[in-house]
Amino acid sequence: MSSIVVVGANWGDEGKGRIVDYLADQASASIRFQGGNNAGHTVVNDFGTFKLHQLPSGVFNPDCIAVLGPGMVISPEKLSLEIAEVATSGVEVKLCISDRATLCLPLHALEDTLEEERLGAGAYGSTRQGIAPAYGDRVMKKGILVGWLKQPEVLRERIQFMMDWKLPQLKALYPSMEFTQTAEEMTEWLLEVSQPWRDSICNVTEPLKALQKEDKTLLFEAQLGAGRDLVYGEYPWTTSSNVTAAYAGIGSGLPALHPERVIAVAKSFSSSVGTGTLITAMEDQDQFREDAKEFGATTGRPRDMGYFDAVATRNGIELQAATEIALTKIDCLSGMKDLKICVAYNGDHTENPIWPQTASLTAVYEQMMGWDEDITGCRKFEDLPEGAQQYVLRIEELMGVPVKMVSVGPEREQMILR
Ligand code: GDP
Ligand code: MG
Repeated sequence: MSSIVVVGANWGDEGKGRIVDYLADQASASIRFQGGNNAGHTVVNDFGTFKLHQLPSGVFNPDCIAVLGPGMVISPEKLSLEIAEVATSGVEVKLCISDRATLCLPLHALEDTLEEERLGAGAYGSTRQGIAPAYGDRVMKKGILVGWLKQPEVLRERIQFMMDWKLPQLKALYPSMEFTQTAEEMTEWLLEVSQPWRDSICNVTEPLKALQKEDKTLLFEAQLGAGRDLVYGEYPWTTSSNVTAAYAGIGSGLPALHPERVIAVAKSFSSSVGTGTLITAMEDQDQFREDAKEFGATTGRPRDMGYFDAVATRNGIELQAATEIALTKIDCLSGMKDLKICVAYNGDHTENPIWPQTASLTAVYEQMMGWDEDITGCRKFEDLPEGAQQYVLRIEELMGVPVKMVSVGPEREQMILR
């Protein structure tokens, strides 16, 4: 039996989805442990190309149950659409949805949008899916639990309770807000849109424990990366949940989990979407962004592009006690002139000792030899040109844990194992 946790070492969009899809072959459960519809995990396999938002990326293995863990906030109508979309490609999803997870309602999305508009230039760069308000309500003990979809009377009461508290505040802060739905109407709507998956709501701990007893492999999947963790990331440019590996068990229904493997997915270069400072930002980003297809999977927003940041990535690896690294998108660096790695920061770290991504710091670079060859067809480490091998080996040395997977393209088989 083994428990494999797949997390992001950077700021998200490292390619976790494709790593989980690759590993799902060996697994009996694929579990998302936090976040919600703001995730965009791209999977390219025999069934097609998918941008998964709430379903775990192991859904394409018919022998795997797909678990949406208690640490998630679930957008009910979007989940129904996603299940239908995956089903059209012939995939039958075996779902288990935690009764302890929190619903992310259209009211939360409205609140998220109104707040971003109020903040104007100072906005967080939210995906406006309602993630922060939904987690906020959970913490304020006003959240609506997924399990209540099976108890309509409780559901209606809790929605009324939440609305009595929330609506006066929203109307005071955003006078232009239009919201006329009643608790009764919201309850009816929820029962309707959750119909496709309501029978899959359960205590997910039970099936997961049963699989553990049978010595099966469980695959845990984070959304985003260490730099966006609510507690350990670049607050306040974080997401609203814990994305780091230690949360995998808590957010999955197995709070005492001790995973055997923690795979930190690191991208061969830096990219970041939303706000915050990227110390290794490249001067000319546009062409490289186009070539590397670096646009947000949920929003289509252009990502900020930079060189590999060994300081931030090592932090992301140490924070999560990663046992190994999966290095992605190295093919995108073919032909890059002036290839370099940031090995240290210059400047005063004490200004922001938590995660020192401040504009006052500059990157200290180490020049790499680079390579020109197309490497998307390489399947063995020895097949890679010398410059690419050196690049991987130097990253491994700087990170202090082995790089066991190197991906050279978005498709499932474009993978080098070491
Ligand atoms: P996630 O959120 O961590 O799952 O990552 P995303 O799916 O948001 O972003 C990763 C993007 O890179 C997706 O478009 C993937 O198809 C693509 N991708 C993943 N691995 C590779 C790779 O090795 N090479 C190339 N060229 N693209 C990759
Ligand atoms: Mg993504």
